Amino acid sequence: MTRPEDSAWAIPVGQLGSRAGQTKRIDAVFPAPSGIGDAIIGVREGDDVRIEGDIDSIVDGLILSASISAPVHAQCTRCLIDIHRPWNVPVTTFFPYDPSAGAYDAPRGHAGSAEVEIIAGEDESEDEYPLSPDGTFADVEALIRDALVEALPLQPLCREECRGLCPQCGINLNEHPDHHHETGDIRFAALEDFKRQLERGTAR
Ligand SMILES: [Zn+2]
Ligand SMILES: [Zn+2]
Repeated sequence: MTRPEDSAWAIPVGQLGSRAGQTKRIDAVFPAPSGIGDAIIGVREGDDVRIEGDIDSIVDGLILSASISAPVHAQCTRCLIDIHRPWNVPVTTFFPYDPSAGAYDAPRGHAGSAEVEIIAGEDESEDEYPLSPDGTFADVEALIRDALVEALPLQPLCREECRGLCPQCGINLNEHPDHHHETGDIRFAALEDFKRQLERGTAR
């Protein structure tokens, strides 16, 4: 069985757990876990994922408030070019102390913790992940995967105003903004004719 600290995604937090109201600054790079997106859009396994933020200890757990940045690869759904750009996802995550873990004595009702409890209560919808059984490591593998998967756009675009491809010949209209086809093109003459009928309201 692998130890929690052997995980590539383990963050040591043992010192924070000693009492509430402490903050640990984190700025670290982790390998992207598997399973973020697919061949069309996602983050390649092993690519650098950076987590920058703070871990705060409260009475019943740890709060990670951070920004996750990762290189997302994608294909523009309009013009099909490859997009490579860093993605930034803000996360607020709760790592509750496990009260059933006897080896770890979670501090309870510590004086001076009221202030941080209020901060923790601001976001009710925060995600939760378990700490290692002894409370000394937070493993961020699942967090990274979940946060990035959730943030992937369904219809990635190289830019908002992407003109896409010519529906007739497939040429990239961003690179050839003046591109058009002669209406005399034999293959499209019938369509053009139909279009004119529609415009005149004579189509049946
Ligand atoms: Zn595009
Ligand atoms: Zn064309």
